[in-house]
Parts: sequence; structure tokens; C-alpha cells
Amino acid sequence: MDKIVYLDNAATTQVSKAALDAMLPFFNDRYGNPSSVYSVGRDAKKAIEEARETVAKAIGARPEEIYFTGSGTEANNWALKSAAQANMGKGKHLITTAIEHPAVFNTMKFLEKVGFELTVLDVDCNGQVSLDELSDSIREDTILISVMTANNEIGTILPIANIGKIAREKGILFHTDAVQAVGSIDVNVADMNVDMLVLSGHKLGAVKGVGALYIKKGVKLPAFIHGGGQERGLRSGTENVPAIAGLAAAIEYRISKLPLEAIEAKRNRLIEGLLKIPKSALTGDPINRLPGIASFVFEAIEGESMLLMLDHFGICGSSGSACSSGSLDPSHVLLAIGLPHEIAHGSLRLSLSEHTTDEEIDYVIEKLTDVVAKLRAMSPVWNEG
Ligand code: PLP
Repeated sequence: MDKIVYLDNAATTQVSKAALDAMLPFFNDRYGNPSSVYSVGRDAKKAIEEARETVAKAIGARPEEIYFTGSGTEANNWALKSAAQANMGKGKHLITTAIEHPAVFNTMKFLEKVGFELTVLDVDCNGQVSLDELSDSIREDTILISVMTANNEIGTILPIANIGKIAREKGILFHTDAVQAVGSIDVNVADMNVDMLVLSGHKLGAVKGVGALYIKKGVKLPAFIHGGGQERGLRSGTENVPAIAGLAAAIEYRISKLPLEAIEAKRNRLIEGLLKIPKSALTGDPINRLPGIASFVFEAIEGESMLLMLDHFGICGSSGSACSSGSLDPSHVLLAIGLPHEIAHGSLRLSLSEHTTDEEIDYVIEKLTDVVAKLRAMSPVWNEG
């Protein structure tokens, strides 16, 4: 296939030149183990500490509040499991939302299985949580609240600062999964009133397999991975120095150079074009949404078939439906925003990058309009009226 239009940047991104350039020296020239005492080791250690400073600065944190991990999923597991464990003497009640990524949702479900009590907050049709409902769900024994900064499927940005304020007033730990937000919108841990925040490298132009956990100074979490004592004894394992150096460079590039307004303009062009398709709808908050994510449902369409036909034209997107345990279940996020099963099946998420062009957007609008018409022509349930 000659033409590829990659509109799945919420799944993963191309490694930025800044990140790649920052990584390369650590594969051969500067290959020391950061724990070694000689100069080659100290050099690697220095690179990690510089990366820590850069990542900290990008989210308004202090370097000593940043811990590198092997992924966003790992960082979420660490934050939630360790916070629950550390505070179980105070209580066993946890709060989260119905639209979290599985990295949070399934971790919370695990904690419920081992004896914690979990409240899952519903969201409205835009994917927003109600602050009143959140306040009402807080109990004497609530020890942890986790609400994502922005949703990966529908792009909704949640009112994290307000939620953080409520949690802080009640003395409850507050965690946010900011994997889709960092590098796409302003993320400042102090303004957001968060105690723990997670980010992931491959969503912002670094490589897969590196992430970071912010832990606010004063919040004590037990070690997550035991071993040689790296990451100040909390996350052992020899550090992935190239990936960490790349993460810092990628974040710095994203925050200072990414043309977010231009990306948003292209996203709006895409939304405008695709909403001309009959019986189509935008999912997620129409205003408070990530600049790069456009997500839709198309009536009488099966998401997987749509993706396969788009793939034929070189267009890469993703559908909310996930194949789990042999059944094609619609996304839990789309069900949580109140869409019926049959509509949720026809979902499509297109996520843009700085490389996306207007020509690509117009190409996608043209091809997708045809694809939807073709699938509907074959559909026994499609009713034009
Ligand atoms: N949280 C959100 C919101 C995500 O979108 C993702 C990735 O899809 C993750 C967590 C997991 O991050 P990682 O792929 O680094 O494990």
C-alpha cells in the first residue's frame, strides 16, 4: 500500500526526531549502568536526573517527585495499589469513574476483589462526572479517588482541578491518569490539586515501554517493585536510560513546539466533514475535548467492518469495540455515556498529530463517507428514513 493516513495517535505516536536524537547516544557511546560508580555509569545517572528535571518542569512538579516506570499501565498500577495498601488502616473505600482506561479500571476492580469497596461514578452524555455526585459518594472511610484527566476514546477533558479540591478538602488521596493529556493540554500538578499523576512516553512521541509517576512530596507510597533500589528504592530495575532520555526530549518538544491550534483546526475540519454523513454523531464533550481526538458513532454500522474498509484505503483509525472473551462487546466508555449497544458498535476514533495535513483530512472525509454508504447499503438494519 502506498498511501498511509495515520489517524490513531491516541493509540500510539511516531517517535519524534527530538526523542530519537536524544536516545541514540545511550545505545552505544553512553551505555553505562546508572548504578555503577565509574564515570560511564555516572554519565548515565546524570542523563536520568536531567530527564527527571525536564519531565518535572513540564508538569509543574519538582524533580524528586518524578519516578520513571516501564509504562503508563505500570505507573497506574503502582499508584493505585500502593496508595490503597498504604492507607487501608484508615479505610477501604475507593472512588473512580465508569470511563477510566483499563489500566485504572481493572486495577480498581482487582482492589475490590481483594477486599476494598469501590464506587464507580456514572458520567453524563458528554463523559463528564458530576461534582455533586462525587461529593455525595465520599464516605468517612474513603481513602482514594481516581479520575482520568482526559478520556482516550472520546477525548473529554474532566474537571480535575475541581475534583482535586474536593479530595484535598476531605484529606483523600487523589490520582489522575493523564496519559492522553500530557503534551496535548496544559498539565500542572499544582493547579490540578493532584497527589499522583501518570504519563506515558509512546503517546507523546517517545518510545513504547516508558512512563512516569508523579508522587507529590509528602505522600508516602510503598515500593512497587522490589530489588536493587533504583528510583529511590520504590521501583527497582535497571533504568531504561535511552527511553527515559527520549521521554524527556519528547515532552519538551511537545510542550514547546507542538502546533496544537493547527491540530485542533484540522480536527474541527474533520468533525465538520464527517457530521455531514446522515445519522452520524460526535461522541464526547463538544467543547472540553482534547485537540487531537475526533470520535464518532454512525448508525447501522459495525465498527470493525468500517475499520477494515478504511484500512483498504490506507486509513488507520480505531473503534471503541473491543474483542473480549470471544464476544464483540461495545466499549464501556460509549455505554457509560448512555449510547445503546447497537449505536456504540458503530464507533470510530480518529486521532491527529502534527503530521496530519488538510489533504489527508479531506481524503478521510471522502473515503469514510463512501465506506459508510457502502456498509449501509449492505445492512439489513439500515433505514434511511
Ligand atoms: N491510560 C490511558 C488513558 C491510555 O490511553 C493508555 C494507553 O492506551 C494507558 C493508560 C496505558 O499506557 P501504556 O500503553 O503506556 O501502558
